[in-house]
Formats: sequence, C-alpha cells, structure tokens
Amino acid sequence: MRHGEMDSKQVASELDRRVAERTRQLTEANAELQLQVGLLQHLPVSAWTLKPDGTPDFVNQVWLEYSGQTLDFVRSHPEAWMTAVHPEDRETISRAFWEGVRSGQGFAFETRSLRAQDGTYRWHLNQAVALRDAQGKILKFVGTTTDIDDQKRAQEELRASENDLRKILDHIPALVCTVNSAGQVVLPNQRLLDYFGKTLEEVNSWPTNDVLHPEDRSRAVAEVMHSMTTGIPYEGEVRYHRADGSYRWHHVHIVPVRDTDGKITVWYGHIIDIEDRKCAENALNELRSELAHMARVTTLGALTASIAHEVSQPLSGVVTNANVCLRTLSADPPRIDGAREAAQRLIRDAKRASEVITRLRALFSKKESAAELVDLNEAAREVIALCLEEIQRNRVILRQELANDLPRVAGDRVQLQQVILNLLRNASDAMSGVEDRPMELVIRTEKDQSDCVRLTVQDTGVGITPQGMERLFEAFYTTKSGGMGMGLSVSRSIIEHHRGRLWATPNDGPGVTFSFSIPSKIDDVAKIQTTS
Ligand code: ADP
Repeated sequence: MRHGEMDSKQVASELDRRVAERTRQLTEANAELQLQVGLLQHLPVSAWTLKPDGTPDFVNQVWLEYSGQTLDFVRSHPEAWMTAVHPEDRETISRAFWEGVRSGQGFAFETRSLRAQDGTYRWHLNQAVALRDAQGKILKFVGTTTDIDDQKRAQEELRASENDLRKILDHIPALVCTVNSAGQVVLPNQRLLDYFGKTLEEVNSWPTNDVLHPEDRSRAVAEVMHSMTTGIPYEGEVRYHRADGSYRWHHVHIVPVRDTDGKITVWYGHIIDIEDRKCAENALNELRSELAHMARVTTLGALTASIAHEVSQPLSGVVTNANVCLRTLSADPPRIDGAREAAQRLIRDAKRASEVITRLRALFSKKESAAELVDLNEAAREVIALCLEEIQRNRVILRQELANDLPRVAGDRVQLQQVILNLLRNASDAMSGVEDRPMELVIRTEKDQSDCVRLTVQDTGVGITPQGMERLFEAFYTTKSGGMGMGLSVSRSIIEHHRGRLWATPNDGPGVTFSFSIPSKIDDVAKIQTTS
C-alpha cells in the first residue's frame, strides 16, 4: 500500500509535470502563432485568405483599414468585399475571380478600389494562389491586394510622353529612324514610311538599298558600312526612289548613340529631301555660267568698241600731222622745221593710240594697273591740246577754268584723259548743229567736298531729254548716226574704278553739264583695281 501510495503520488506529479510541460509548449506555440497572425495583420500589404469556395475567412488589418470594411461584413457574403471595387470594374473582376476560384488556378487582376481614408478609387493588383494538402485538395486561397496606382499613373505618363514623342517624330519635316549596325532601318517615323510607301512590318525586312538610285548604290552602301565599322558619323547625298516612282536627291545623316562606356547602342538617321534645293542650285549654276559667258562677250564687245572709239582720235591726229608733214615738205622751199614738228606730233599721236590700246586692254583683262598721282589740270590741258584743232574747226569757243591749287588725285592718267576727251568730244558733237547761239564749252576743275576733286564739262548744245538722261550711261545707247554708245559707259566704269562718280545735269539754259568727282586723298594711292 505504502508502495502503492508512493506510486500514485509519483504518477500524479509526473502527470502534473507533463501537463505543465505541455501547457508551456502550447503557450509558446500560441505566442508564436499570435506573432505570425500579428505579422500578417500588419504586413505593409493587404493580405487575405479565402475558403476553397471563395468565401473570405481571414482579412488582415491593413486591408480592413484601407477599405473601411469590417471582418464580419467581409465574411457575410462571398462578394461583399467587391463593394469596395469601382462599379465599372465589378462585372469583369467578378468573372475573373470566380473563374480563378472554381478552376483552382487562382487569379491576378487589376481593379480600381476605394480608399476609405479619402474616398478615392486607386488601381490595385489582386493576386491569389491555391494552398493544397498532400492529396492536392485545396485548403485555402491566399492572396494579396497591392496598391499600384502610383506605378500605373507613372506608366500612363510615360506612355503619354512616348505618344507625344512619337507624334513629334512622325510630324517632324524629315525622315527619321533608328538604324542597326548592319545599316538596316529599325524604327522609322511615319513620314518615312509614307514617303517610301512601306508599312512598319515591311520596313524591318526591307533592304533599304533597294530604294537607292543604281548609280549611287555601291558608293552609298560602302560609305555607310565604313561608318558602321568605324563608328564615324555618316553624311552624304544620295538619290532615293520615292513612293510616287520618282528619284529625288536626299541629304542623309546617320550618327551613333553611345552608352556610358562608349559602346554604340544604336544609330540615329535623318534624311532630308533636297531635290528642290538641288534643282534651284543647278539652275543658279547654269545662270551663273551663262552670266559669266555673257560678261565675257560683253567685255569683248566693249573692249572692241572702246578701242575703235578711243583710237580713232589719235589716228586722225596721225593722218592730219602726216598731211601737214607732206605739205610742208612739198612746199618750195620745203619747210623742214615745220615738217619736223609735224612728224613729232605724228609720233606723239601714234604713241597715244598705242597707249590707249594698252590701257584699255589692261582695263578689260582684269589686271591691276599701278596708280599714280595725277594732276587733273595737266591731264586736261594735254587732252585739250589733242583736240583743240577739232574744237576750233567746229567753231566752238572753249573756256578753261582750271583751279590753281588743285590737289592731285590717285589714278591712271591715260584712263582719266580718255574720260575727259570723251566728255569734250560729246560736248562738241552736241553743239555741232547749234546756229542760234554761241557754242560755248567750259572745262572747269575745282575742289569738291570731302577731299574730292571735280572736273566739269559744260556745253550749250542740244541738251538731253529726260528719257535720254535715264539711258545715257547704258552701253550702246547713242543718238548719233555714227555713234557707238560706248563712250559714257566706259567713262563711268573708269571713274567708278577710281572710286568716284560721273553724272550729268541739265543746264538752266541750253545744254548739259557732265561732271566727275574722284577722291584726292594720298591714302588712295594704293592699287586701283581695274577689274570689273
Ligand atoms: P556716243 O558718243 O558714241 O553716242 P556716248 O556714250 O559717249 O556714245 O554718248 C551716248 C549718248 O549720250 C550720245 O549719243 C548722246 O545722245 C548723249 N550725249 C552724251 N553727251 C551729250 C551732251 N554733252 N549733250 C547731249 N547729249 C549727249
């Protein structure tokens, strides 16, 4: 008995110990479980479980707080939670939800769900997977609901900006594309597709070289491939075959885009139709060469005409003096001194004629002639001496009003003398038919404003009509039966080469006054371009 008592006591204490041990274990397990539930409740994501039939049995605190619903409400009906979903989405997601539950596949769909805190609908991703036992029987569905509104919005913004970029690319007035390292168009803009009449699908398998003009093909392909292998941007002009069947010139530019390591990731290309510009350029070139030809022809004509015009004067001097020479020699007794003087004048005139030709050739052959300091009074006196005889023969009264302290001008003496001679001859010609008044010719030199010297030739001739005034300096404009109309146009170009001005003004009385004014500055004794 005693022994038995002992035994039962021992058994009892053993039992107590075991109970205590088990209780401790259970408490520990419970605490662990509590911890896990707590974790689930407060995970920073909405988490929930569904019974195999789709009825919610657990919904964590995060979800309840977010949606503002209670656990009892959620459990009250399998679709109770769907009241938190935007009305427009309910039908679709209800279908997807039940399909996932019934098939046991689980689901993943996006909904706009209410955020109780501010009454706004935000995009959420709802995902669930089935939890199965060893036999594959579904125990539960476990799932999460994630707020993806911010990402969704960012995605939409990205898509919108992509669209904007696309629009810009498509409407840019150029053909734009990305090109791969094989020189193949990868991503073209709409304009490029329309231009070549291709679809996006066609373009990727499109041997771009097909649209190249056969004459440009091998050159362009070699140049582009050289760029692709060396990484040097390509720039060139080629003819492409447009969708309308015409070949047109294009300017092509392809540049590499590199990543931070300097590796080429893609090439950007843009193609600009330059056909119209090219046509205009060609037309311009043709025009230019035509003009150059015309200028040559005109110069030649002008040169010939000028030579004829300017040389006739000294030549008639030569003839006159030769006659004088002969006459004096034939006199009885022969007047040797007179003949000598006439022969000297003859040489002088012949020299002048040859000088005129030389200077005129220099003027039209675009050579430079060295400027010298010219005394316009002296130059004028020489010219007067040359044509005085003719002037007097025409019964013209010549008056000289040459300024005393006239500064010298920088220029070509013979050229300036040609101008003076021409003005005097024109004045004399203009008075040749005048009967009712004295034929007066005034040649005047004076200082002009801003360091210029002016020479004026005034006549009392027939004068010039307003229409004549407008055309006076045109080449070949003449009112004389034997005139060439070159004198004034050549004179003007000579004066302009001296950086001066030549003009005509009608007199108050009868006749016209021609004047030229050229700079007298010593600085101007540089080289005077006799080019046109
Ligand atoms: P050309 O003397 O060979 O006709 P110019 O160029 O020297 O060539 O002159 C052109 C025209 O200008 C002359 O034909 C004439 O009609 C007019 N003209 C020039 N000078 C005078 C002038 N002093 N008075 C009236 N008309 C003039």
